[in-house]
Amino acid sequence: MDTSHAAPPSIAFIGLGIMGGPMAANLVRAGYQVTGHNRSRAAVDRLVSAGGRGAQSVAEAVADADVVITMLPADAEVTEVVLGEGGVLAHARPGTLLIDMSTVGPPTATALAEAGRERGVRVLDAPVSGGEAGAVEAVLSIMAGGDATDFEAAAPVFRALGTTVVHVGPHGAGQTVKAANQLVVAVNIQALAEAVVFLEKAGADLPAALEVLGKGLAGSTVLNRKKDNMLERSFAPGFRIDLHHKDLGIVTDTARDLGAILPTGSLVAQLLASCRANGDGGLDHSALLRGVERLSGPRTG
Ligand code: NAD
Repeated sequence: MDTSHAAPPSIAFIGLGIMGGPMAANLVRAGYQVTGHNRSRAAVDRLVSAGGRGAQSVAEAVADADVVITMLPADAEVTEVVLGEGGVLAHARPGTLLIDMSTVGPPTATALAEAGRERGVRVLDAPVSGGEAGAVEAVLSIMAGGDATDFEAAAPVFRALGTTVVHVGPHGAGQTVKAANQLVVAVNIQALAEAVVFLEKAGADLPAALEVLGKGLAGSTVLNRKKDNMLERSFAPGFRIDLHHKDLGIVTDTARDLGAILPTGSLVAQLLASCRANGDGGLDHSALLRGVERLSGPRTG
């Protein structure tokens, strides 16, 4: 990426879903020229309405880009879009900076970096935390892995997307930190869901109970962000159980390789898998509550 010219770098953005859509729109708002591509066309049209440009293919999106950002569901899609025929590395100019902001396994991140090096494309893994609201409000936490000079080059782009931006280590380190994030979030949601069922079975005033829990040591961003979903049983995503299931697969695989024993994480991975098996994979991860309800039987009171 040539940062010597005055114009801001042009950005190709691949994957304009729940997270990528608002992130790309925020980059337009910050003054970048953003060309978006997505598998389904409606998402591209939304970016065009927000002031971006649309591309029919990955190749078209990345051909003139200084920076390419991918925000795709999982390892398979990222691998296909970056390494596949017609993909980013086949069509980006040497010197391009590729930033994968999807959540994938650390081995995928290091494989992208290696393949990028062979093509003269610099690569960062930079997954995010903060959910849809964080993407819309540009207050994401961004954990980046890769070379420090590439991180510095990407910093202005990151600042248009998030408020906490940290270089956490070499290639793959961003994904390792994100896996830990997903472990903590899943266990938190499960604990909150269990507290909700416990309180309801006891006939407690649930809104009052959650209000006071939220102000003490039990308080958390998870409680603040997810309590209304639970109170209203409103589980439109948000962050889909299918994706959190994928993330806990990354956690358990990585932990096994490392020899890190995560009993609670493994159990919550099973509970997420159970929600999926019961047809809840498309719901927000706060629907872990539905799993606790299935285990506990009908509500009383
Ligand atoms: P999403 O499913 O809403 O968006 C993914 C988008 O990628 C979709 O619009 C889909 O059409 C598009 N896509 C899939 N394959 C494609 C391909 N081959 N070519 C072009 N486009 C393709 O998912 P999301 O919730 O936006 O999550 C994206 C990533 O961010 C995931 O890795 C997820 O784990 C991570 N993440 C999500 C959240 C959240 O709260 N939703 C928070 C943090 C991180």
